[in-house]
Amino acid sequence: MGNSMSTVTKTRFAPSPTGFMHIGNLRSALYEYLIARSEGGKFLLRIEDTDRERYVEGAVEAIYRTLDMCGLRHDEGPDIGGPNGPYVQSERLHLYTEYADKLVASGHAYPCFCSEERLAVIRENEETEYIGYDRHCRDLDPAFVAQRIASGEPYVVRQKMPLEGETTFTDVVYGTITVMNQELEDQILIKSDGYPTYNFANVVDDHLMEITHVVRGSEYLSSTPKYCILYDAFGWDIPKFVHLPLIIGEDGKKLSKRHGSTGFEELVADGYLPEAIINMIAFLGWAPSEETREIFSLAELETIFSAKGINKAPAVFAYDKLNWMNEQYIRRLPSDRWRTMVKDIADPLFNEQPYSVDMLARVLRERVTKLSDIPEMIHFLTERLPYTRELFYNKRAKLDADVASNILNELYPKLEAVTVWDEASLSALLGQVCEETGRKKGQVMGALRVALAAQRVTPGGATETAMILGREEALERLSAAIKFLDG
Ligand code: GLU
Repeated sequence: MGNSMSTVTKTRFAPSPTGFMHIGNLRSALYEYLIARSEGGKFLLRIEDTDRERYVEGAVEAIYRTLDMCGLRHDEGPDIGGPNGPYVQSERLHLYTEYADKLVASGHAYPCFCSEERLAVIRENEETEYIGYDRHCRDLDPAFVAQRIASGEPYVVRQKMPLEGETTFTDVVYGTITVMNQELEDQILIKSDGYPTYNFANVVDDHLMEITHVVRGSEYLSSTPKYCILYDAFGWDIPKFVHLPLIIGEDGKKLSKRHGSTGFEELVADGYLPEAIINMIAFLGWAPSEETREIFSLAELETIFSAKGINKAPAVFAYDKLNWMNEQYIRRLPSDRWRTMVKDIADPLFNEQPYSVDMLARVLRERVTKLSDIPEMIHFLTERLPYTRELFYNKRAKLDADVASNILNELYPKLEAVTVWDEASLSALLGQVCEETGRKKGQVMGALRVALAAQRVTPGGATETAMILGREEALERLSAAIKFLDG
């Protein structure tokens, strides 16, 4: 049925607003976006809100926020319109009824009046001839049907599956798949409330919206023959199907909350950068040919992505890998953006206390895995922690509380005399003290670090800590340490 006009690649992200955006949804969106961009095509957003019972307040907003934060800009959608709207399924109900009526008229679908009670009995009864529904209403007399509809009896519309033969289609990822038509249920297309099922709406919309590549999770693979039969019944071209592999955790089980955060916004709240999440997700089932590199910006992915590189083996979402990716992205961030991120987290924690955000950002950049690590990492800076004598003990540096007391007493007046509290002056001064006193640098720096931090391990050394704290706070901590040691 193909026409000779060359078709522009068009993909769609078709989320149901039934909850938060999880890694699986976002991967579909990303691959759809990348297929469109890599082929110079269009990417559209369609909201599939026909399951009214599962509708979650705020879910649509979360979809927009997520796409926006990830930089996945759509070319058509409910918010910006486009040539094939409306893009919200609940605004397209008349279309589904219209197309269902066509199928009924052409003998590919039929009204079914079976009650819930009757269907429940069929489900219990294992001896039915057909899969699922027993096709009780499939061949009712048309006049009788018309009469029942006219009398207001509730009904659904079911697809009339072929009784014999087989259906074959080719999936870009899973290859050629054939099913016996006998195995296909006469599935519901229009529910008794007039709303379409996903099984019907996806076909009508993908056709009317001129979708060329249907990209979605592999859980839809087994229903795809039924969709192919619908396309054929209408005489429509069948789009390319690209079903994506299951996402699993490192234990081989389907990825779930037990493994860790699985929602995009949850991951962001955990301190992962959207760019790192996107890069990680790009590799959930895809890899570039002939490249071993793993860090790719969205812009780079847009040029190298190809549906041919998608693998059907289950894709492992490893949180260690995400951590590593996030570190790579943090190291590569432009300095001013990193500074702002650190400042946004640190400002409320330092409260009124002055501090050097520049030095803090510098010290943290090489050490942070995810943004949410920062509050704990800087706790010793925002709070004065209690000293213990053991803290000052360091065998290798030949340091203990008494030696530390001597060093700090020597250091205090010299540090107090420093007027320009910058890195160069502090380093010069500390170097000079070591030289004059003949002490090892590790000893002097070790004593100063513990005095300033009240902990042994800190991100950054003594000089950097002194810089972050600023002159006044550093001197106060120093004198508090001396008081503790000498008192
Ligand atoms: N609304 C479906 C879902 O969220 C979309 C599946 C598809 O992409 O066709 O799972």
